Amino acid sequence: MKVFDRIRDSQQLRDDERMFVDVVRDLVRDKIAPRAEGYDRDEAFPWDNVRDMNALGLNAVFIPADYGGVELSYGCYLMLVEEISKGCASTGVIWATNFHGIKPVIDFGTDEQKRRFLPPIADGGLVSLAITEETGGSDATQMRTSFRPDGDEIVVNGTKIFITNGDVADLHLLFGKWKEIEDPRRAISAVVVEKGTPGLRVGRKEEKLGHRASSTVELVFEDCRVPRRNLIGAPGDGLSILFGALNTSRPSVAAQALGIARAAFDDGVAYINQRQAFGRRVIDFQGIQFMVADMAARLAMTEAWMFHVARLLESGVSDVAIEASILKLSASDLAMEIASNAVQLHGGYGYIKGVRVERLFRDAKLTQIWEGTNQIQRVHIGRAFVERKNGR
Ligand SMILES: Cc1cc2nc3c(=O)[nH]c(=O)nc-3n(C[C@H](O)[C@H](O)[C@H](O)COP(=O)(O)OP(=O)(O)OC[C@H]3O[C@@H](n4cnc5c(N)ncnc54)[C@H](O)[C@@H]3O)c2cc1C
Repeated sequence: MKVFDRIRDSQQLRDDERMFVDVVRDLVRDKIAPRAEGYDRDEAFPWDNVRDMNALGLNAVFIPADYGGVELSYGCYLMLVEEISKGCASTGVIWATNFHGIKPVIDFGTDEQKRRFLPPIADGGLVSLAITEETGGSDATQMRTSFRPDGDEIVVNGTKIFITNGDVADLHLLFGKWKEIEDPRRAISAVVVEKGTPGLRVGRKEEKLGHRASSTVELVFEDCRVPRRNLIGAPGDGLSILFGALNTSRPSVAAQALGIARAAFDDGVAYINQRQAFGRRVIDFQGIQFMVADMAARLAMTEAWMFHVARLLESGVSDVAIEASILKLSASDLAMEIASNAVQLHGGYGYIKGVRVERLFRDAKLTQIWEGTNQIQRVHIGRAFVERKNGR
């Protein structure tokens, strides 16, 4: 559809980026999308997709060239997340989680840390980002995982829950509290934990409503000794690292939601263009056209906002937290609404396994929950408009 193509064109990708997006789009059409139903049904990790994406060097697009990458623009990265998620939301989030987990190392790691950690990820390694605990999801400051310094090591104890890629990741970016710092907010720190470190084990694996091909697990740390040189930043830098990371991970989750939204929109519109009722195509009813118009309008505006946020970040603006929250909130609510409408437009068939909108409906829900629930996004956005008086 020309309207959506023009929004993408406004992003003005370089020629090499445009060609790469085309190559990834072909991979999604020929391999990733056809496999999605099977992976979802079997709740199986999509290793074939990961292998195919690694054969194209997809991880390298977010790793700086000095550390083995072939970095593309952030706007191009978001476009790729959207494309992959259109074909398979689980695969989209597995790949995006690599970015979410490694980006703080790129932004806050030392040169020595980047030399150790980035090249294997550029080559296709998997990453997890471990924040959530039973005591702290929306309020991450309630996490209890402890980091106790002991000479050249940090002794980690605690349990993380709901960790995407947790059982398959080569590196985990782990948040916990530095024992020697009393203030619970200032104690939050971040370390990289490598796969196979003694004292780290994978606990329960969750069965899920949607995103069934991505794995979501508990990570248990029992006197797990991590080299102190894996600490990112200084002890207590964790919260600012976390907030910095959200500026790029929230738009990334929004791109994933937009991939789901766009797939649902395309399927819904294609179906009503051929389905007949009362001697007419369903799309010929004005009540239905109004539904399509509302979805198209919000899709176009949200997609344009996504590229606005990308351009802000690319031009070096760093305080984009509110713009990123607006994007995450809008894209994920839209994904849920369009997926629900797409099921409705399919009538009874929309409720049946094997019809893609049924899966998209289940996949869409998560986008409103993770990376900060949509209530939390509203809290951040609303607060930004509260005028401060008397320094309060
Ligand atoms: C499939 C899946 C994958 C995930 N992957 C990861 C991952 O890779 N890494 C990771 O660290 N975490 C991950 N998470 C965790 C996810 O980020 C959290 O579930 C989410 O942040 C919500 O936290 P919670 O589940 O503790 O809910 P709670 O914080 O307990 O929230 C419960 C309800 O209260 C509402 N609420 C809370 N505070 C407020 C408030 N101030 N105002 C209004 N409403 C409020 C929430 O919006 C929600 O509706 C994943 C979760 C799932 C389900």
